[in-house]
This record gives sequence, C-alpha cells and structure tokens, in this order.
Amino acid sequence: METKTAKLLDGKALANKIQQELSAAITQLQPQKGRPPGLAVLMVGDNPASAAYVRGKERACQKVGIESFGKHFPTQTTQAELEEVIAALNHDQRVDGILVQLPLPNHLDAVTLLHQITPDKDVDGLHPVNLGRLVRGEPGLRSCTPAGIMRLLQEYDIPLQGKQAVVIGRSILVGKPLALMLLEADATVTIAHSRSHSLQSITTNADILIAAVGRPGLITADMVKPGAVVVDVGINRVVESSGDSRLVGDVHFESTAGVAEFLTPVPGGVGPMTVAILLQNTVESYSQRFHS
Ligand code: NAD
Repeated sequence: METKTAKLLDGKALANKIQQELSAAITQLQPQKGRPPGLAVLMVGDNPASAAYVRGKERACQKVGIESFGKHFPTQTTQAELEEVIAALNHDQRVDGILVQLPLPNHLDAVTLLHQITPDKDVDGLHPVNLGRLVRGEPGLRSCTPAGIMRLLQEYDIPLQGKQAVVIGRSILVGKPLALMLLEADATVTIAHSRSHSLQSITTNADILIAAVGRPGLITADMVKPGAVVVDVGINRVVESSGDSRLVGDVHFESTAGVAEFLTPVPGGVGPMTVAILLQNTVESYSQRFHS
C-alpha cells in the first residue's frame, strides 16, 4: 500500500513571490514618493538568535528596496534612551516602520516601549490600537506571524469558512491575534493552552491545527485528524546526540506527514512568511504616508 505524505505549505517560495511583488510595487511608488520605504529595527543587547533575525530582516529589506534605519544598542541602554529614539523615529519622515526586536534585557519594559511607537508605523502590529482594530475587524497593520499564516492558507486555497480551527498557544504575538484572524475568516475557533485539559481530544477535532507553543514534538500523528491542515509555528533548537544542533517545530514532522493533508516545514514554513509580511506592512505604511 502506498504511504500517504502531506503536501507542503511552502512558506519560503511564497515569501519569495511576495518579495518580488513588493519590489515591483516600490519601483512604481518611489518616483511619486521621492524616497524608498524605510524600516527601523531596534535591537538591544547581543542575544545571538535576535541578532540573526535582525540580520535576516535587514537582508530582506535590501532585497526589495526598503532602506534600513536599524540601530543596535548595548545591553545597558536605558528605557529613557530608547523612548527618545522611538520618539525621533516617530517623526522621521524617511521611516515608515518601527519595530523593537524581542526579547529585551530584563531591565527594560517592552510593553511601554511598544506603546510609544506611533500606531501607523507599528509594522509588527502589536500596538494596542492595531490589536484593537483587529478585534473590531477594521483595517490596520496586522501582526506579522499570524497574518503570514493566513496568507499561506489563502495561497493554497485552504477553505476556512465553517471549519474547526484549533490554535494551540495564546500569546499576544501569535495565538490570540491568529485566533481572531481565523474568526474573521468564519472558522469555528478553539484556543488551547498550557492549562487546557486533554489536548488530544481538542486537536483531533481540528480541520486546521496550528501549534504555536515552543515545545519540540508536542504534536504527534495520533493528535491529528486524518486530512487536517497542520501549521507549525514553533521554532526550537534541539541538540542531536552527535552534538550538532538543528531547528525543529512543535509538530513531529515525519509521523504527522503520514496523516495530514497539508503541513508546514520547519524551517521554510511560517518563518519566512513572518518576514514577508513585515516587509508588506512597511510598504503598506509607506504607500499611505502623506509626507515624502
Ligand atoms: P509563548 O511562550 O509566548 O507562548 C506559548 C504558548 O504555548 C502559551 O500561550 C502557553 O499557554 C502555550 N503552551 C505552553 N505549553 C503548552 C502545552 N503543553 N500545551 C498546550 N499549550 C501550551 O510563545 P510564542 O511567542 O507564542 O511563540 C511560540 C513558538 O512559536 C515559539 O517556538 C517561537 O519561537 C515560535 N515563533 C515563531 C515565529 C515564526 O515566525 N515562525 C514567530 C513567533 C514565534
């Protein structure tokens, strides 16, 4: 008997396609705006994973023609210094997007900094005004990872209306905004989290199952409904017995691929989509800005 294998939801390929479209849109808009779009990524300290993410974002900006106004601050930078930088960027007419790379060193208050960013430059979509717009179903900048997942599902024509969608994880970064977006797309949404009882009885009902937890191999094949669409948001670095390390998601890929209809790989699934939507949000903010 032939073994079934899930089709891949290829986030890397779609992210490349989006980047090409954005590059073309920027070429078209730039003569009338008189400048390229600008994105400022603020990083504090030297967390190696954050540094790699920031480099990835800056490379992607360069590829599509977005100017980077990124700043890298030493660990001991104060809250007041960062607030001053954000205030200046809010008024800088070359800058369309501002984001603070998380996590921050412990002495800094990330939420207060986030609230300082003017909502129309909040390309991470995490400011309360933009989250409020999402709750109300109004247009606004949407959080990058959940918006990237929605775009990926749309690209593969995955029907959502009336479907059972289960989101595992309730963070403000992924789980909560994603649940709202799925609701907006008329799915019947369940959110599971660390206090949920009998996770398996919840996940096996899911037509669309999304894991955003940060635990390698949490989702195994016996937790997946045959034919389900499985999206793996988790990024976990695991060390092999050989001493080498590699990135894995929250879903046990090999076994789940035999049950699911569609599955995202890690890496190459949700990660590249997050960056693509960040660029898209920056270009959206740029195209709507009055000043040039
Ligand atoms: P988080 O730590 O803020 O939230 C984790 C969530 O998982 C919590 O809501 C918690 O209730 C839930 N949880 C924990 N243990 C659980 C369990 N045993 N069963 C069910 N739920 C459980 O994390 P986050 O910021 O939402 O990120 C989640 C994962 O996604 C991480 O691995 C992170 O690295 C990854 N991530 C990936 C991208 C991307 O672009 N691919 C973006 C953001 C986050």
